[in-house]
Amino acid sequence: MSKKNICEIFGSNVFNDSVMRERLPEDTYAALKSAIKEGKGIDRSIANTVASAMKDWAIEKGATHFTHWFQPLTGITAEKHDSFIAPTDDGHIIMEFSGKELIKGEPDASSFPSGGLRATFEARGYTAWDPSSYAFVKDDTLCIPTAFCSYLGEALDQKTPLLRSMEAVEKQALRIVHLLGLKDVKRVETTVGPEQEYFLVDKEMYLARPDLMFCGRTLIGAMPPKGQEMDDHYFGVLKPRVASFMRELDNELWKLGVLAKTEHNEAAPAQHELAPIFTTTNIAADHNQLTMEMMKKVADKHGLVCLLHEKPFDGVNGSGKHNNWSLTTDTGINLLSPGKKPAENPIFLITLAAVIAAVDKHQDLLRISVATAGNDHRLGANEAPPAIISMFLGDELTDMLTAIEKGVHRDDAQKVNMTVGAEVIPCIKKDNTDRNRTSPFAFTGNKFEFRMLGSASSISDTNVMMNTMVADTFLEFADRLEKADDVTAEVFAIVRDTVKNHKRIIFNGDGYSDCWKNEAAARGLLNLESTVDAVPHLADEENIAMFKRHKVLSKTEINSRVEIVLENYSKVLHIEALTLIDMMSREVIPAIMEYNDILCGLVNNKNAVDASLDASVELELIARLSAANREIYRLTAELKNSVAAAEREEDVIDKAVYYHDTVLKIMNDIRKYADSAEAVVPKDYWPYPSYGDLLFKV
Ligand code: ADP
Ligand code: MG
Repeated sequence: MSKKNICEIFGSNVFNDSVMRERLPEDTYAALKSAIKEGKGIDRSIANTVASAMKDWAIEKGATHFTHWFQPLTGITAEKHDSFIAPTDDGHIIMEFSGKELIKGEPDASSFPSGGLRATFEARGYTAWDPSSYAFVKDDTLCIPTAFCSYLGEALDQKTPLLRSMEAVEKQALRIVHLLGLKDVKRVETTVGPEQEYFLVDKEMYLARPDLMFCGRTLIGAMPPKGQEMDDHYFGVLKPRVASFMRELDNELWKLGVLAKTEHNEAAPAQHELAPIFTTTNIAADHNQLTMEMMKKVADKHGLVCLLHEKPFDGVNGSGKHNNWSLTTDTGINLLSPGKKPAENPIFLITLAAVIAAVDKHQDLLRISVATAGNDHRLGANEAPPAIISMFLGDELTDMLTAIEKGVHRDDAQKVNMTVGAEVIPCIKKDNTDRNRTSPFAFTGNKFEFRMLGSASSISDTNVMMNTMVADTFLEFADRLEKADDVTAEVFAIVRDTVKNHKRIIFNGDGYSDCWKNEAAARGLLNLESTVDAVPHLADEENIAMFKRHKVLSKTEINSRVEIVLENYSKVLHIEALTLIDMMSREVIPAIMEYNDILCGLVNNKNAVDASLDASVELELIARLSAANREIYRLTAELKNSVAAAEREEDVIDKAVYYHDTVLKIMNDIRKYADSAEAVVPKDYWPYPSYGDLLFKV
């Protein structure tokens, strides 16, 4: 595609600023812009004009329907389509779309998860237009990004708390920048660039695997002779089928205004990554949802299936999402930009300190924000950061902070050499680049990169946590600065105190090593290994208090979220267990029997020819496979019983814990026997495409 074409295509399906300027009356455009800019509501007459212009534009793009596009707590997006048609007196129709329909929708919400927030008799949920994220046309539908809440205004979605958290951190960040002399700053936004990992597998093979179809991951599968040990896939040459998928994906995303920038192969065979250029957080969250949706759609067109699960293949790298996060003023200053002399840059220092303190104080929240059944398989495996939260700052910054902590004069803090940091980081294994890939939370030049997110999840939860916890430390720091006579001196005092109190969170060494696990325990860092360990802590009292303080989530909303996440965990395991039972009972056990029968036939044949012929190999295989099948059969029955027992648990937490402690364990045991059988049963007798087929045959 030529450069000109790309420029024409980019945003062509988006009702963006230039379309608005072109199509809206000047005063409407100005009113809308200032409402968006100041984060204020929009009045009805403006909404009517905007709606009408939007409708005309969408119809020109081929749209016949509109939808309020929202993000319920299922983690994906939802849409209910209405057509534009309205009847006229003379039996014809006209195409209509009012301001009322633009601003507010009432989808029947009774089937979306609410964690007890919305009793079924009050099934009504409301969607409300988010004018800060542009409307767009997808297929034949005008999609209007909206927030989704209950009758009483409680958030039933992921966007509402995200918008609230962006306001919370902005409010406190503004106090800080104003106190530090940047009086002209009117807005501070959080920005995010989410890198997205995924797998592509052949569609026919996918359809032959019930585990992939129902669970998104393989529940059994013996390792192929070749995995990722050669590192030949990472950044490798794209296969033609994958390359044409990526070209079309870029194209589709560009039309929707998504800044798809980098596409490459990832570490595992059949694994890939897409990174967009960063943007305002709520827009980044919307765009990430669109990206995941488009990946699936475009893959389908190419005879492929896009797997977004965190761990589709055991023993092979899983997929995550990297959340690159920063804060930027409307005057163009990135608060996390160190500049040439970080030690003399109070804005940078105080923001850095705020993030350090926030991450240390709220390790639990970051961990909770990435807790799902799928991600549990990934965190702590050897390609993903462990479930322990720590921060990588690099030697230079760490040394600078250590110097400030020790009271080295400001100007000299700039010049400290590399040795000073040694005491802060005893368990160090020096990374040869300054970018530590094993850290869950790394400073990468002018932003922080959080790497624990699962590939399938929305980025909203993580950013709600980031924004709120940084808002809370900013609040504390701003209170201190307000009382100080010498603001700059106070910044250094704050940094010193932060380093003193929170340096345990800084770790520049190898996050995958066992030595780190012990070291982290000695430092008193949290290690919430699974979703069931982590999620109940969301409702800890200090968390409820903090979310309330910043008006991000109420106690009721928090409790409902705990319930939904754990309910979802149990549901996922329920489906996985049923799928495994079905696969074992109807396909694997019979397949092993069938092959054993062949082997028995071979033994019989040999005996018939000459009883002294050697049939020891056949007999050994028969014995091994019979033993494995006996265990698979026994464990499958046990799994059935344990699922029934799990379902009898009434309390959401107890139920999830039962699934984690008992059901999951039996599933893993079954897998061991099934995989050992797969390794000796010939391909033709095994009911499923192998890992080798799935990973290498695209
Ligand atoms: P990599 O981590 O692969 O080296 P980059 O450092 O270029 O890649 O960026 C990774 C992601 O971080 C990209 O999505 C990029 O747009 C995003 N990013 C860069 N600057 C910022 C920022 N100030 N705020 C948020 N995200 C950013
Ligand atoms: Mg990265």
